[in-house]
Order: sequence, then structure tokens, then C-alpha cells
Amino acid sequence: MSNLDRQAVPAVCGGRGFVVAEPVRELLTPRHVRLGESTEVRRLLPNLGRRMVGAWAFVDHYGPDDIADEPGMQVPPHPHMGLQTVSWLHEGEVLHRDSLGSLRTIRARELGLMTSGRAISHSEESPRAHARFLHGAQLWVALPDAHRRVEPHFQHHTDLPTVSAPGLTATLILGELDGTASPGTTYTPIVGADLALAAGAEARLPLEPDFEYAVLAMSGSAEVDGVPVLPGSMLYLGCGRTELPLRADSDAGLMLLGGEPFEEELIMWWNFIGRSQEEIAQARADWATGDRFGTVHGYDGPPLSAPELPATPLKARGRVR
Ligand code: MN
Repeated sequence: MSNLDRQAVPAVCGGRGFVVAEPVRELLTPRHVRLGESTEVRRLLPNLGRRMVGAWAFVDHYGPDDIADEPGMQVPPHPHMGLQTVSWLHEGEVLHRDSLGSLRTIRARELGLMTSGRAISHSEESPRAHARFLHGAQLWVALPDAHRRVEPHFQHHTDLPTVSAPGLTATLILGELDGTASPGTTYTPIVGADLALAAGAEARLPLEPDFEYAVLAMSGSAEVDGVPVLPGSMLYLGCGRTELPLRADSDAGLMLLGGEPFEEELIMWWNFIGRSQEEIAQARADWATGDRFGTVHGYDGPPLSAPELPATPLKARGRVR
């Protein structure tokens, strides 16, 4: 998925200053953003009060949308730099094409993991014949300086490992939970896990005290550390926890996102993560004119053009609130 915001303003993210060292319960409300003609998403990261959770730098939740008589998701070819994209579905499917020649249909609870490294481009669309409902999340993981220029690659994992407890099934998307690890390639200490809770479940999830965490609510009615979370909201949990109490009144779907606080400052603009305004401007120019980001073949429509880069230099780094 792409950041289609036409008023894209560069934002400085990362760095210790944003991290809350102790356990907190900070409920983040989403911003509603339209993606093209047909899809509206709820954007949880970056958020007014919070830019990152570990290396997780971007979180969109969308659906469930009834697309029986609609084209569904239609995100034209666009570039990425300095990040990984994670596609995670609860219902429906997304057809992924990229400039490496990948052509994959990502289905519910399969991992589509695209590492942009220095440069890649891709498109995402609902296949012409698609399921009635589309429900999922699109996330970005920032790459650390040591790895942000790696060769681009795409991974599709259809059989991810799970951890079970009474009333809880956790599917490992990235990183490790309770000794079980996802096969997805990671570049920083991080975790992403899908949490399926059965009605009436009460569970305690083991956490790493050095990680910061958040939980995205996708469906149902659940409480995270005693806080009711509605679908489309995200609870930031800070650091310093060894476990996380969960309960569910109905069947509920959550995503646990966590990682070591991302200490490097970085600049996010449009679909790029860099370290300077010059680097971002170069990436924008390269998408418009060059072949650095490659070509996506087979998408029915023109690629996205980048919005204007504001002439004003980057805003000084803001406070968390
Ligand atoms: Mn994208």
C-alpha cells in the first residue's frame, strides 16, 4: 500500500526522545485516509502523538469492506526506499506485483514481506475475481542505517508458526514470541504477531522488557491490560513489561507490534524513509525521471506520481505531545 496523501509533509521520526521507558496505556485514535477511489484506511502510525513503535513506522488498518460489486483495492505502481512493507489480511486477498517481477496473491494470515532496501516499486490490487470482504493491515518497518541499502527482495510465507494458549492463537508475522520465530527476514529486534482470541479468553502474553509495544485492534471486543480496544484503534504500551494481560468478550483479532526502540532519527516522506531532505528529494527525482525504482509490469493503469516536496526545510523535531 502507498501513502497517497497529496499534502505529504516530511516528518522526523525515531530517536530515544519519543520512547516511553515505562509501561503506559496510551490509546491512539486513527486518521481516516482515502487510498485512491475505493479504499478508506484508518492510519494509526504515524500518529499525532506517536511516530514509531520499535522499527514499526507505518500502520494502516482497512475494512472489513464489502467489495462484492466493487473493484476493491487499486493502488498503482509506486516506489519505496529504506523500509519493509508487511501485508497482513484477515479476509480477502491482495495481488502484489513488483519491479523484481514478483506476482503473488497474498491471502488471509499469509505474510507478504517486501524489503525495499535502496529501491523497489510495486502495485497492490484486489484480483478481478475476489472474495466479498477485504479486511487487513498494511505496515512498514524502518530499516536501520547498516541495512537500508540492501538489495530489494520479496518474501511470501504461507505457513507461519503459531503459539497457542487456552483461548489464544498467536501467529508469528515477524520476529519471535515465546521461543517461536517467524521465517520473515528482519533487520532490527522486532516482533509482529497476530492474536486470535476466543470469546471469554483470558491470557497473558510474555513480553521483552527492553521492547516497546502497541496492540492494534482489528475485530471483536477485547481488553488489553484492562483497556477496552475497539477495532481500528491502537493501544501504545511503552517499555518495561514482562507480560501483557488480554481478555476477550467476543472472538477478537488483535496485532501485537513491538521492538527495540529505534534509536536512529529518520525522515519519512511519501513512500520513502531516508536520513536527509536531500536524499528524499533525490528519491523523488529518481522516481519521476530515472529507472532506479524499476518497472512494475502488468498493472492496468499509470504509476503514481509523487506529490510536491515542500520548499520549506524539515520541521524541527517536535515533542511527543
Ligand atoms: Mn507500497
